[in-house]
Amino acid sequence: MMQVYTEPITRLIEEFSKLPGVGRKTAQRLAFHVVNMNNNDVEALAKAIVDAKREIRYCSICCNITDTDPCSMCSNKNRDKSVICVVEDPRDVAAMERTKDYNGLYHVLHGVISPMDGVGPDMIKIKELLVRLSNQDVKEIIMATNPTVEGEATAMYIARLVKPMGIKVTRIAHGLPVGGDLEYADEVTISKALEGRREI
Ligand SMILES: [Zn+2]
Repeated sequence: MMQVYTEPITRLIEEFSKLPGVGRKTAQRLAFHVVNMNNNDVEALAKAIVDAKREIRYCSICCNITDTDPCSMCSNKNRDKSVICVVEDPRDVAAMERTKDYNGLYHVLHGVISPMDGVGPDMIKIKELLVRLSNQDVKEIIMATNPTVEGEATAMYIARLVKPMGIKVTRIAHGLPVGGDLEYADEVTISKALEGRREI
């Protein structure tokens, strides 16, 4: 490609272009915005990015993102440790928490099994869940993966592994729109989905 802008700008545009949902045009707009920002703001932005990456890690129990290990939820004595809600993404934990109806713990898979995308069971946090179940007295696993083909297949896959351990496995109800993300569902919809869960 022809070098239209000076090298530092081109490089910044390229870095922004790697972000999800950022096209070439937006990347250019962001890059020029950064160049016009004052020095303190630019440094604060760069530091926030570097610090977030350095200080945030996965909880060694639930695999949620955290700055303490175990995370504040896993170490909270008021939460019901006998129930684990399995979700795809840390953002789903935030969505569930907004309902204020759930007081159990979570397990974050960081994805779903998707042969089409080359994601096998060993590439998401299933092994960590099984280790956890063998160390902790859990009565119920709530599968709250999204109602997509991959989300359903992942829920069934995990159910098959967990049920022989004598643990009840339930699936949240389909109040959620098919293909819809838990993350974008409102609190009432999530509460209903949770309330209407069925054993699988
Ligand atoms: Zn945790």
